[in-house]
Amino acid sequence: MDISEAEWEIMRVIWANGHSTSSDILTILSKKTSWKASTIKTLLSRLVQKDYLVTSKVGNKFVYRATVSENVALNHKMQHIVKQVCAKKRGQILGDLLAESKLTQHDIHALQQLLMTKLEAAPTEIACDCIPGQCTCHL
Ligand SMILES: [Zn+2]
Repeated sequence: MDISEAEWEIMRVIWANGHSTSSDILTILSKKTSWKASTIKTLLSRLVQKDYLVTSKVGNKFVYRATVSENVALNHKMQHIVKQVCAKKRGQILGDLLAESKLTQHDIHALQQLLMTKLEAAPTEIACDCIPGQCTCHL
């Protein structure tokens, strides 16, 4: 999955609204960006080419819909980031992310439950999955 930061802004509008026209997107994103209508059209056509959006003509306007859910796309993005570090460091990185995140009591209870479930099947050690020279495990 390969959605750029600019394309992500467009996807968020479509995820939130279900379907959108380029002028809907322009109106919403004008509060955040100074993009012109042509910028949005370029980003939309790139997202259609990449199969993350489908478009259909309704009246005289093109309506865009997402082919991938926000959760699936976000999960991919996060997995991608997590896999950029040694498997041995991932627990620490997730801990850092949690430490910096604002969480409700409900979020924390849900995370506690998830961790307790994982604890039962957790290994005592994680194997490094890097090639020698990209982490310090082999030194
Ligand atoms: Zn390693």
